Amino acid sequence: MSKPQMLLKHEAFVKTAGYSTKEVLDTFNLPQKALDLLAPYWIYVGSGFSDLPFTIYSVLMADYVGYGSMIPQKLSHEMSLKMAERAEEMGVQIEYRQQVDKILVKKGKAYGVRTARGDEIYADYVISSAYPNKVYTSMIEPLTEVPEGATKMVNGRRLSLTAFSVILILDKPAEELNIKDYSIFRGDTMDTDVLYDNLAGLGPYRYLTCICHNYGNPGVTPEGTCSFSVTVLPRVDGWKTVAAEDYDRVKHEVAKQLIDDMSEYFGVNLLDHVLECVIETPMTIAHYTGAWNGCIYGYAHTMEDHIVARLQTAEAERFIEGLEFAGAHAISGDGMGPAVTNGRKAAKNVLDDIAAKEAKR
Ligand SMILES: Cc1cc2nc3c(=O)[nH]c(=O)nc-3n(C[C@H](O)[C@H](O)[C@H](O)COP(=O)(O)OP(=O)(O)OC[C@H]3O[C@@H](n4cnc5c(N)ncnc54)[C@H](O)[C@@H]3O)c2cc1C
Repeated sequence: MSKPQMLLKHEAFVKTAGYSTKEVLDTFNLPQKALDLLAPYWIYVGSGFSDLPFTIYSVLMADYVGYGSMIPQKLSHEMSLKMAERAEEMGVQIEYRQQVDKILVKKGKAYGVRTARGDEIYADYVISSAYPNKVYTSMIEPLTEVPEGATKMVNGRRLSLTAFSVILILDKPAEELNIKDYSIFRGDTMDTDVLYDNLAGLGPYRYLTCICHNYGNPGVTPEGTCSFSVTVLPRVDGWKTVAAEDYDRVKHEVAKQLIDDMSEYFGVNLLDHVLECVIETPMTIAHYTGAWNGCIYGYAHTMEDHIVARLQTAEAERFIEGLEFAGAHAISGDGMGPAVTNGRKAAKNVLDDIAAKEAKR
């Protein structure tokens, strides 16, 4: 890229950095139809356009439009396995089926972890994929080592979205059930602020995202069948109100709404074709991954917690020496690509720290 072009891009970035997605899109006076086409991916960053920093939206769209998307043949788990394989080739030791219970800290510095089985593993650095909310409220040992700033940071940030999915294996090929695309977004409006408000409760939900794997990945299910999933991405707060005794009822009500909505859309009663059905709720996610409140998107990108401001405070937010964070709750936010970026950033912080200490010797 020539220098003037680079300057122009940098200038455009700086000019738009303080504005919401809505404010920038409004300047183009685009017809509503065009705006509706630019909106569907909002759900992958999880804030309505009037509160979503344009910086985040533009990076998301540039990524999709410029590079497209990828579907691993053996689903996303294949990516994890490949990364684990490569890490092991490079000398990493992976301990499966281990849960870290405590992060050990002395005089402001992390020095290892204690597992749920009671083993202590000592290290100069700890990188946590557990949310800061969990780390600073129950994992740091002793808790008196949690600095006040860390508690304030956790309380000041707003958690983003969780997920509710119904994954179906159906007894006919997709085209026979009128399922014609890999990816379907269904909403009765494309006003993302209205849709964001709708995600606060327990449904009925107004914005559904569906995937039929067979279109991107033929052969993913046995011949004559297909896989179809319907997902909504609610805010975590609504699901915190579900009492244990109501959980089964709420889970089945929401799942039924999603299946019925898509059945109406296709003109086919999907329930007549179900071979297998798995329902994943925010509680499932919290239970299996330990994600705080089942949140899958980390902290919401908002105008008051803007990525550009976060860059300014990133250093000050390294509250305990030797403790780094990698996960959707880290600076780059949610998604599988950003998960890698967040991990790389945490590793770089560690390597920079080692280099700085060696340089002082
Ligand atoms: C249905 C669904 C569809 C999605 N689709 C896409 C998509 O198409 N593209 C995309 O980019 N993103 C997608 N996402 C989002 C993406 O999966 C998440 O943003 C991302 O996985 C978050 O990464 P993470 O590292 O924060 O959390 P995770 O992927 O949950 O990883 C955290 C890991 O840390 C482990 N862990 C936590 N606490 C401890 C502890 N104390 N001790 C030991 N281990 C611990 C957990 O077991 C887990 O393995 C989707 C999410 C869902 C739910």
